[in-house]
Amino acid sequence: MSEPLTFFEQVNRNFDKAAAFTSHPPGILEQIKQINSVIHFVFPIKRDDGSVAVMHGWRAEHSHHKLPTKGGIRYAMTVNEDEVMALAALMTYKCAIVNVPFGGATGGVRIAAHEYSESELERITRRFTFELFTKNFIGPGLDVPAPDFGTGQREMAWIADTYATLAPHDINAAGCVTAKPVSEGGIEGRAEATGRGVFYALREVCSIAEDMRAIGLTAGLEGKRVVVQGLGNVGYHTAKFLQEDGGALIVGAAEHEGAIAKRGGIDVEALMAHRLATGSILGFEGATDLASRDLGLEVDCDILIPAALENAITMDNAPRIKAKIIAEAANGPVSSTASEAFFERGVLVLPDTYVNAGGVTVSYFEWLKNLEHVQFGRLEKRFDEQSARRLLTAIEHATGRGFSDQEISSIARGAEEIDLVNSGLEETMIEAYHTVREIFKRGGGAYDLRAASMIGAIDKVALAYKDRGIFP
Ligand code: NAD
Repeated sequence: MSEPLTFFEQVNRNFDKAAAFTSHPPGILEQIKQINSVIHFVFPIKRDDGSVAVMHGWRAEHSHHKLPTKGGIRYAMTVNEDEVMALAALMTYKCAIVNVPFGGATGGVRIAAHEYSESELERITRRFTFELFTKNFIGPGLDVPAPDFGTGQREMAWIADTYATLAPHDINAAGCVTAKPVSEGGIEGRAEATGRGVFYALREVCSIAEDMRAIGLTAGLEGKRVVVQGLGNVGYHTAKFLQEDGGALIVGAAEHEGAIAKRGGIDVEALMAHRLATGSILGFEGATDLASRDLGLEVDCDILIPAALENAITMDNAPRIKAKIIAEAANGPVSSTASEAFFERGVLVLPDTYVNAGGVTVSYFEWLKNLEHVQFGRLEKRFDEQSARRLLTAIEHATGRGFSDQEISSIARGAEEIDLVNSGLEETMIEAYHTVREIFKRGGGAYDLRAASMIGAIDKVALAYKDRGIFP
């Protein structure tokens, strides 16, 4: 039984369910739900063998209630108008949940990126940027892309460079795209931000003993059994932080080529090295190769992390999923109906609109850095350090207690950019969870966490329209 609704229809189904618990007028709800602009580009690129390939690309801007709009650029065969509209809508709700002042957008090109050479991908990316530019779908105050499935820092650097060439007088040109390499105006910590955000979210969720008891788990991440589907940017970093900083056991992993399981826990770095060397996660020492990649999702575990693409879990496989917590590191990995089934079964589904919002949060920090034209921490680092040293010296004089060099260097330390980024991300993920949880508690069991996060998002977007006087 495949999922009967399209991805965008599923997002809107989730929206409608949550909207029923708000008291906003139907007109305002309809405005929030609709895609404000969507564009389809068709353009040619010359392949390395001299032939011409015709590319199909899209960009959807879901909500202009705040500008710029913001969201990823995906390179995948799944890309179509419905998919970018769904992802753009999720971005609006996500930004609202973590208080990032952007509307949502998403774009993509329908290609299997691995079938193109680096120089072909560069031509595709630069031409796509040119198309976005000429149609006013990119700019630091208009619409700011970021990476998504199949794209990364390299593509973002090409986009930034193309935009700067087309807009030489735009002093804020670097803010036209985020997740750039640090040397190109990026920010420390952005590459791993989504995965780090998933880790902070799970750590917070698992720290609440009462909630864990309700699903038959003990509090804390230590020793929790985790399965990750998709070891790309998001999945790899999530697994790494859960293992290294959370003490969790990665008992299963699934990738394009297959899935593996290992009760005693998989060392994430060793698995990545094995994949680099052999081209596959299969055959990893001490692990069992499963019969298919999809079986990875069904491995017995406490926390399941789908970090590949949408609709990984539908009513087809939901009954066989054993996890107590599902963290939607990908966008839309659990179908709308499967999500309802999990709610009835008492499985905690942490919605994408909250759990993978770390990426856009740090993208927001990068955009601020680009507009300010200065690295975070540059002005105050030395001053803070010296103030703390003076304070320690005063304490030494007043109390006669001496501090060791190690104590002094750990206490009297001015914050680096990475410290500020991670601290801002941690605060954002923790605060947002408690806001969502409070809305969830208010529902008294009438709706799940997905609806709770959506209700919070709808309220914020509605307020933006209301405060502008557009709606009564
Ligand atoms: P990526 O391209 O870096 O990694 C995706 C990985 O999933 C790849 O290694 C791919 O081989 C693997 N994969 C594909 N199909 C699979 C399957 N059927 N089973 C197992 N593995 C499979 O992409 P990413 O940036 O990590 O994005 C992954 C998901 O996270 C997407 O849904 C994206 O929208 C979402 N997301 C990404 C970011 C970000 O900052 N990159 C932020 C928020 C959400």
